Amino acid sequence: MTDDLPQNPDRRKLMGGIAGGVAAAGLAGAAHAQQSSEAAKLTRMRDPQTAYPQPPFPEQQQDWPGLASQMDPVPDHGEDSYRGSDRLQGRRALITGGDSGIGRAVAIAFAREGADVAINYLPDEEQDAQEVIALIEEAGRRAVAIPGDITDADFCQQLVQRAVDELGGLDILVNNAGFQQSAPLIEDISDETFDQTMKTNVYAPFWITKAALPHLEEGASIIITASVVADQPPENLFDYAQTKAANVIYAQVLAKQLASRGIRVNAVAPGPFWTPLQVVGGQPPEAIPDFGADAAMGRPGQPVEIAPLYVLLASAESSYSTGQLFEATGG
Ligand code: NAD
Ligand code: MG
Repeated sequence: MTDDLPQNPDRRKLMGGIAGGVAAAGLAGAAHAQQSSEAAKLTRMRDPQTAYPQPPFPEQQQDWPGLASQMDPVPDHGEDSYRGSDRLQGRRALITGGDSGIGRAVAIAFAREGADVAINYLPDEEQDAQEVIALIEEAGRRAVAIPGDITDADFCQQLVQRAVDELGGLDILVNNAGFQQSAPLIEDISDETFDQTMKTNVYAPFWITKAALPHLEEGASIIITASVVADQPPENLFDYAQTKAANVIYAQVLAKQLASRGIRVNAVAPGPFWTPLQVVGGQPPEAIPDFGADAAMGRPGQPVEIAPLYVLLASAESSYSTGQLFEATGG
């Protein structure tokens, strides 16, 4: 794998010394080197076990829906490292849950690949969302912020209409918003919580997809964020795991329906990822310090590590993949 930076620190020091002697590189040069160094992080050969934060993590809880900026450590969504290469030039994308976690990493990656991006999120997440909007704009792309609650069918219609109006159309739909609450037993799940899990994870993609379809043309791509729990359900996620299994079926069946229209549909299955979802009740609080330790990689994934799958599925490069499940589980 090539890299525009020397990997050997001694060589880097030496080169820095030479450069310093030859010319005043100046602050701009230093800033550029710093930026390239961050960007090189993604492509440099490195041990994936230690490439990102490892457990134990500090104990922490937030009120739902939580903010990425309040997590310790703050998740890595690729802000300083994701480097695009025009793979989605001119595409128009709507991403639900685009303020934080996986959706935010996807929004940043899509924008740096050349797409205009609309994100949906809850009004309480405005602070996280504004950071994403700024990053999309920094990438030179159009950013559209559409706060609102997707458990409301009418809002789902308005969401799609606003995205289409403000982006001038729609080519990529990412159904990524999700609701997860850990509960030891079925009796511990209230009707309200069960309903919210179903509405957010199953009904909303149904409503949003139906609203989006009239706007999607040949070559469009629909992606849904499922989960490894669809296949390996843990005992504390009775309702959530059922919705994630539904998300896999969503992709498999819709792919069959839409192939003749030239539209592809795929699902992504993350394993444990370091996002707000987990620290707002998604896991029992005592499980947070060791979150991700069970993965073969020995740590949770950072959102930046899964964004490339969404880029691949959104781009025309994966034109023969539809109805598939792509996993990033940490082993
Ligand atoms: P996250 O908390 O960063 O993102 C979830 C987002 O869902 C929130 O930011 C919020 O904007 C949105 N949301 C929830 N309820 C909503 C509502 N009623 N209206 C509008 N928006 C709403 O966490 P994340 O882990 O990045 O979650 C993204 C997706 O990844 C979810 O579908 C989740 O099920 C899935 N997932 C996460 C993990 C993990 O370990 N983090 C593992 C497997 C699957
Ligand atoms: Mg959020």
